[in-house]
Amino acid sequence: MTVKTDITGKTVLYGIIGWPIKHSLSPLMQNKAFIKAGIDAVYVPFAVQPVDLPTAVNGMRSLSVAGFNVTIPHKTAIVPLLDTLDESARLAGAVNVVKNHNGKLIGFNTDGDGLVRSLEHDLGCHPGGRRVLLIGAGGAARGAVAALCKAGAAEICIMNRTTEKALELINASIAIAAKTRLILFDADQADNLFWSRQELVINSTSLGMNNEEISGLQVEALPATATVYDMVYAPPKTVLLEMAEKQGLKIANGLGMLAAQGELAFQIWTGVLPEAGLMLKTLTKYIDV
Ligand code: NAP
Repeated sequence: MTVKTDITGKTVLYGIIGWPIKHSLSPLMQNKAFIKAGIDAVYVPFAVQPVDLPTAVNGMRSLSVAGFNVTIPHKTAIVPLLDTLDESARLAGAVNVVKNHNGKLIGFNTDGDGLVRSLEHDLGCHPGGRRVLLIGAGGAARGAVAALCKAGAAEICIMNRTTEKALELINASIAIAAKTRLILFDADQADNLFWSRQELVINSTSLGMNNEEISGLQVEALPATATVYDMVYAPPKTVLLEMAEKQGLKIANGLGMLAAQGELAFQIWTGVLPEAGLMLKTLTKYIDV
C-alpha cells in the first residue's frame, strides 16, 4: 500500500461521508490516484450518523474541505443542505459528489454515468435503444434512471419492494425520459413473454450483499442474449450473478461502476481524469488479496 507521508499545511483535504463507512474502498483508490497524479491531497473517511448530517456538512465548509463523496444513507438527505446542484444531481435527485467552490458546496451525481461507463467498458453494452429492468428505487437507482435516459434506453421497467417508491421515481423522472418508456413492474403481468423481452437487468438494491436472492425476479426466464449487472461488488459474485452466469448470460458486478464514479469525482475536484484504469486496478488488487 502506498501511503502519503509528506502532509504539510498546503495539503488539500478530501473525504467521504457515510454510515457505516468502514467498508468504503474510496479512500484507497482516491489516495492512489492523487499520489500518481502528483497532487498534494489526502482523502479520508468520515463516519457521519444521519442525525449529524447537517452539522457535518457545515463542518466541511468551516474546515475548507475541498470536496467529498457521499454514500449510504446520505445521498438524498444531503440535497437540501447544499448551496447548488449540478444538472447531474438535479436530474437524479441524489448526490454522491460535493465540490467546495470558495465556500459554496455544489452537489453532483456521478453514480449514473459511472454505471453507463462500466456497462460499456466491462460488458460492451451501450444502453441506447435497450429494454432495461431496473431492480430498486433508492439513491443509486435515481442516478441510474437519469443516466440510462440520457444514454437513450428504450424502456426502463422499475421493480422495487416498496411499490410507492418505484412510482415516485417514475413520476420524478418523466421530464427527463423523452426517449424512454418508464414502466412500473407488475408481478401479475410478468409472464414468460415479459421476461423474454428483457435485454439488460440491473440490480441497484443492496440484495446480494448477504447472499440474498431477489424475490420475484425470474432469472431462468431471461433470454440467452440478456446482460445482467449487479451494483453490489462484495461478494464479487452475488446469487443473482451466479444464477445468470449458470445460464450463460453476460454478467458484471459493480466494481467497474465504483471505479468509474470515482474517476468522474476526481475529475470534478481536480479538473483532470486520473490515470486510465488505475482506480479499477487498485480495487481489484485489494479485493483479490
Ligand atoms: P438506498 O437508497 O438505501 O436504496 C436501497 C434499495 O434497496 C431500495 O430500493 C430498497 O427497497 C432496496 N432494498 C433494501 N433492502 C431490501 C430488502 N431486504 N428486500 C428488497 N429490497 C431491499 O441505497 P442505494 O444508495 O440506492 O444503494 C443500493 C445498493 O447499490 C447498495 O448495495 C450500494 O452499495 C450499491 N451501490 C453501488 C455503487 C457502485 O459504485 N457499485 C454505487 C451506488 C450504490 P425499498 O425502497 O423497498 O426500501
